[in-house]
Amino acid sequence: MLQAGNGMPTTPLLMIPGPVEVSPAVTRAMSVPPPGHQAPGLIEAFGQALQDCRTVFKADADAAAYIVAGSGTLAMEMAASNILQSGDRAVVANTGYFSGRMAEIARRCGAEVTLIDATPGDAPSLEAIERHIATVSTRGSVKALFATHVDTSTGVRLDPEPLAALARQHDVLSVFDGVCATGGEHFDMAAWGADIYLTGSQKALSAPAGAALLVAGPRALKARQSLRQPPPLYLDWTSWDPIMKAYHENRPSYFATPATNCVLGLAQGLREIVSDTYEDLNGVDARVARHHTASTALRQAWAVMGLEEIPVRSELRATTLSALRYPAGVDAGLLAQLRQRGLVVAGGLHPALKTQYFRVGHMGYVTTQPHLLEQTVTVLAEGLTAAGHRVDSKAAVDAFRQGVN
Ligand SMILES: *Cc1c(COP(=O)(O)O)cnc(C)c1O
Repeated sequence: MLQAGNGMPTTPLLMIPGPVEVSPAVTRAMSVPPPGHQAPGLIEAFGQALQDCRTVFKADADAAAYIVAGSGTLAMEMAASNILQSGDRAVVANTGYFSGRMAEIARRCGAEVTLIDATPGDAPSLEAIERHIATVSTRGSVKALFATHVDTSTGVRLDPEPLAALARQHDVLSVFDGVCATGGEHFDMAAWGADIYLTGSQKALSAPAGAALLVAGPRALKARQSLRQPPPLYLDWTSWDPIMKAYHENRPSYFATPATNCVLGLAQGLREIVSDTYEDLNGVDARVARHHTASTALRQAWAVMGLEEIPVRSELRATTLSALRYPAGVDAGLLAQLRQRGLVVAGGLHPALKTQYFRVGHMGYVTTQPHLLEQTVTVLAEGLTAAGHRVDSKAAVDAFRQGVN
């Protein structure tokens, strides 16, 4: 539990896959009377956030960065509606709930969408995706390939690099939903040749909810220019281009009001990632390494507690969250046991497995705070014991500590 220390009620420790805990500096940055959208401090923070967004995404100078008020889903809508139109074909690598959402969004842009399925907890193979793209190509080509970097419903992470390469090889645009990954998992937009990467402010970037972030490379920007009809005004990149340019250049501008306090928090959250250092690494590489250490240590504790994960192979396990099966005799009542003890985790989300598992988010700021991760282990061990699955709390904590040291 986070101690307020001033007689204020303590808030629970929020270990869900977004929104997540943010640093005290992020809370301070946003806890100000709402600035106007043309306030000098807001303009400066916005320009900084755009620059740091490109750094965190590892984008080239010829890519365009957009930060708009909205949630991660809005970034998904923006991606699809600027590259797809009716008659286009799209392919979605299906790793769970959010891939399904991406498919529905693409369909609503008029595209004919094919989902390449996998059993829940697995990811479709590169071969299956390539086979489909190559087959369809003989009948008229696929315009875009969509994939979820980390699917929050299953805890499955796929490897974007070969997918981006495959897409290039077949002259297909690649779009990656990084909402539960960006800032926590390795992604190199420029080196991999990915065309669009997107996220929301409240996940691994460790900022408040309210901002959608998207970076589009030159091939994606060209696809927007070739659409027969423009996308909805708010989603249209060309509506925002002059605004983002102005913020980059520290000038006031207006198209639609940004979430001003959220932008202040987001700018601070991004700064903390860009200026992070860990072991001999800097910036987002340091932050990604922290996620690796944190998730490895937590998984050692999960193993001691006898908890099994939804991803079917260890290389599919995300570093940003764990999707854990309830042990025999335990059900969703566990969540209430944990809540009483000051820890909030999330229930299942994948429709086929919903009642069989729960999810612990371990992304963003908490990866810099091992004591918060350790607290999660301790409380989870207590909650499981109270729910009837006896675990050795001390052994679980010891396993965790070995992993972080
Ligand atoms: C959370 C999430 C979304 C949706 O983001 P919202 O901010 O809730 O709209 C999309 N994709 C993934 C992978 C997510 O984790």
